[in-house]
Amino acid sequence: MFVETDSLFCIERQGKLFLLPGTRNLLALQRDPPQASTHHAISFDSFPSMNPAILDPLRSVFGHGGFRPHQEEIIAHLVAGGDALVIMPTGGGKSLCYQLPALVRGGVGIVVSPLIALMHDQVMALRQLGVRAEYLNSSLIADESRRVEAALAAGEIDLLYVAPERLLTERFLAQLDQVRIALFAIDEAHCVSQWGHDFRPEYAQLTILHQRYPHIPRIALTATADAPTRAEIAARLQLENARHFITGFDRTNIRYQVREDSGAAREALLRFIQEHHARQAGIVYCLSRKRVDEIAAWLCTQGLTALPYHAGMDAATRRRTQEQFLMADGVIIVATIAFGMGIDKPDVRFVAHLNLPKSLEAYYQETGRAGRDGQPAQAWMRYSLSDVILLRRMLEESDAEESHKRNERQKLDAMLGYCELTSCRRLSLLAYFGDTLPQPCGNCDNCLAPPATWDATTAAQKALSCVHRTGQRFGVMYLIDVLLGKDNERIQGFNHDKLSTFGIGQELGIHEWRAVFRQLVARGYLAVDHDGFGGLRLTPACRPLLRGEETLMLAKQATPPKRSQKSRRPANPAPGTDHPLFAALRQLRREIAQQQGVPPYVVFHDSTLAAMVATRPQTLTEFAELPGVGNRKLQTYGTAFLEAIRRYQETL
Ligand code: ADP
Ligand code: ZN
Repeated sequence: MFVETDSLFCIERQGKLFLLPGTRNLLALQRDPPQASTHHAISFDSFPSMNPAILDPLRSVFGHGGFRPHQEEIIAHLVAGGDALVIMPTGGGKSLCYQLPALVRGGVGIVVSPLIALMHDQVMALRQLGVRAEYLNSSLIADESRRVEAALAAGEIDLLYVAPERLLTERFLAQLDQVRIALFAIDEAHCVSQWGHDFRPEYAQLTILHQRYPHIPRIALTATADAPTRAEIAARLQLENARHFITGFDRTNIRYQVREDSGAAREALLRFIQEHHARQAGIVYCLSRKRVDEIAAWLCTQGLTALPYHAGMDAATRRRTQEQFLMADGVIIVATIAFGMGIDKPDVRFVAHLNLPKSLEAYYQETGRAGRDGQPAQAWMRYSLSDVILLRRMLEESDAEESHKRNERQKLDAMLGYCELTSCRRLSLLAYFGDTLPQPCGNCDNCLAPPATWDATTAAQKALSCVHRTGQRFGVMYLIDVLLGKDNERIQGFNHDKLSTFGIGQELGIHEWRAVFRQLVARGYLAVDHDGFGGLRLTPACRPLLRGEETLMLAKQATPPKRSQKSRRPANPAPGTDHPLFAALRQLRREIAQQQGVPPYVVFHDSTLAAMVATRPQTLTEFAELPGVGNRKLQTYGTAFLEAIRRYQETL
């Protein structure tokens, strides 16, 4: 629902009001709603197209057997000259949506991208496919720039990636005037949003493309787009007439798992990696730099390859770390949130959080870095109430305005609520973004092993009344000590050993009490004090519970699953990857990648290697049938991989 007030434009979503800048253009969206359905769960099953003009290059150049949801419609729409606004989750396959139509339309496809590192990666990957791709940005020396400009003038480039500031120079535009342009793609289009974190002022000037080249199709793409951002993109890029293609937010291949940190989070992390992700790439997020360094060092002592990454490290070290993550197999990065933007590695198999992220937006974005290739991947978290208290304190101590703080507090509450869920996590995560699922997902911890619940009404009443009687200013640990009747000086100093609630909670242990308090906070019965030191106070919501008009069912704290239980349900069954032939092929891929100076996944994805293990191609014709094998890769690598397969079979 849209509401317009005098100076503000608001959108209501799930009972919350989101404010937007007072631009009336945004009303355009209301009049001209997106044409595509918003509620498509994306599934990564490709399906065959009937249109040979776009199907042929899909197979011969990209080596894909079919399209992912929406790709075909988008591509056909662009090939026919239409404009498009594409919102697709990470890993949905956005690049193909402009790369393929650029090849089909002829001329050069101009791709505007704000991330220099990504340009380089994309260009490398395209060249591997035999596509003539180049980039122009500030990292090129003058000679290189001139070479690219000459190639552009000669019509020898299929796809040219440019930084927005370069594109906007009169010199570059004059060069563009002279060549045939297939299309303009504006990647990371949310950078045009003044209210987002990635705002790039040059993006706001990209309307010049429409004014100067009105007949060239434009496609804007992003993974980040709640309705307000979407409206802002359409308005600011003058894409009002563009067709909107909005794929749901669901990342079906990611399994979500969340549990409270009962004090042994790093051991649990190690077990998780060893059992499910041995020799695979992953990212571990921590809140502080100190913890990042500690965890990375500890994982190394446990025999894993883990590298720290945070803003306190110098730029050269950070670059090296990133490069190792991309180039070597099975590297784990332990990082603060400084890591991730601009990392396009498709085969990150897990993202682990050792602390609570500050919002569901952050959580979705960070976990979204797992499994871009569509293969099974896991999002794993351990969190505690002290995370909430710390995040609160950081927020309260910041210089931000009160309205901003209020908003951030709500986001943190929503994050905690998600963690404390006993029902399908995906349903709730998607609902937060305004997306729906017809039924529970079957691929989150709560779906796979529904937690047992217990009636915590009496315990909750005791906890709440203890908060009340101690004056609504103490933190969880103190309150638990009172409930358990601990004999300590602090309690005596406050005379709290005389309270009626002193010692009335001995039927539960510390662990259970912590869970009760956490859930009371998560459900809004208790609020963490604004001073950020963890004092808890009652909210009006707790009244019915105190009066006995409401019951409270809580999840039983699960004991860590035993190994045998786990192995019945492997979370990451990428078939074939345990096979000795897979290891041999991976070794060959590593050697080739090293020779060429590209990351291994640019040569072939794991899924292509796994398909080699499964089908054992003997001839180039059979090799050409593998997913991820187009003409160029067939010619360049087919013989070497066939040879490796033959050698392996001879040793049997
Ligand atoms: P996004 O930019 O949306 O995050 P990408 O364009 O990087 O996603 O694509 C993610 C991965 O999916 C890439 O590794 C790409 O090769 C693969 N991919 C894209 N389209 C298809 C398809 N139709 N079939 C198989 N794999 C695909
Ligand atoms: Zn679920």
